[in-house]
Amino acid sequence: MLADEISRLKEEQNAVILAHNYQPGEVQDVADLRGDSLELSRAAAGEKAEVIVFCGVDFMAETAAILSPEKRVIMPEAGAGCPMASMITARQLRRFKAEHPGAAVVCYVNSSAEVKAESDICCTSANGIEVVASLAEDQVLFVPDRNLGRYVARFTDKKIVTWDGYCYVHDRYTTEDVRRARALHPQAELLVHPECRPEVIDLADHVYSTSGIARHAKESPAQEFIVGTEIGMNYRLKQENPDKEFYPLSEEAVCVDMKKTSLEKVLSALQTLEPRVAVPEEIADRARGAIERMLAV
Ligand code: SF4
Repeated sequence: MLADEISRLKEEQNAVILAHNYQPGEVQDVADLRGDSLELSRAAAGEKAEVIVFCGVDFMAETAAILSPEKRVIMPEAGAGCPMASMITARQLRRFKAEHPGAAVVCYVNSSAEVKAESDICCTSANGIEVVASLAEDQVLFVPDRNLGRYVARFTDKKIVTWDGYCYVHDRYTTEDVRRARALHPQAELLVHPECRPEVIDLADHVYSTSGIARHAKESPAQEFIVGTEIGMNYRLKQENPDKEFYPLSEEAVCVDMKKTSLEKVLSALQTLEPRVAVPEEIADRARGAIERMLAV
C-alpha cells in the first residue's frame, strides 16, 4: 500500500510530513501534523527531522525553508501555488510603499518570500489584529488580501490601506450562500474565515482562522456547523468531532492548487528528495525578520 511505503521511506529519510488543513483527505491521513501555514512552519522549525515534506502551496514551503534553513524542505507538487500570493510582486510593493511614505507594511503570510522581505512584519489570519495593534505607525499598508485587511481594520483606529488581492475560494462566497445554508441547517453555527467578503463576515456567528475553527468546533456545545472555508477543512473537522455535523457554506469552495498533491507525489518526493524549495539567503534573511517580528508580538 502507498501509505505503508510512505511511512517506511519517511523513517529511512528521517523526514516529517506536514499537511495543510486544505489538503486532500488521503494526504492529511499520512501527515505527522496538519494545521495552518504558520503552525506547520513553526512545527517544522522545531522538528528533529532533517527533511520536511510540505504538502501545501509554495509560499508555505518557502516559509518553512526560511525558518529552517538547515533542513531540506521538499514539496511533492512544485506547481502548487497560491493565486492570492501571486497578486502582488516585490516590485509592486516597493511602488506601493513609495506612494505611502511613513506607513508600516504588514504582509499576510500568504505571500512570496520576496514580498515578505519588503515588509516590516507578517501576520496570519489568526493574529492580524494583534500585529496591527503592536505597530507605532498610524498608517498601515496591508498586503495582499483586501478582505483580511478590511476585517482587521474593524478593530483599529489606524488607517489601513489594503492591496486589492483576494483568495478566489473565500471571495466567492455570497450572502445568498449564507441564506441557503442557514435555511437548510437552521440549528448550525456559521463559522467563516476572515478571507471572506465583509458582507459574508457580517452574517457569521464567528470569524476564525482554520486553527481557530478547529478549536471552536471542539469546544462549542453546538452540534452542527456551517463552515465557510476551503472544503478540505471539513475532513479534519469530522475526524476530530465524529459526533458533530459539518456542512460546507458552498460545495464550490475548492482550492485547485491545494488539491494537486497526491499520495503518489508524496511517495515520489520521499524517493528523490525533490523538488526542493530553497529561498536565496539574502531574501530569506530579510523575510525571516518580518516573520520573527510577528512571532514576538
Ligand atoms: S485557499 Fe486561497 S489563500 Fe489558500 S492557497 Fe488557495 S488561493 Fe491561496
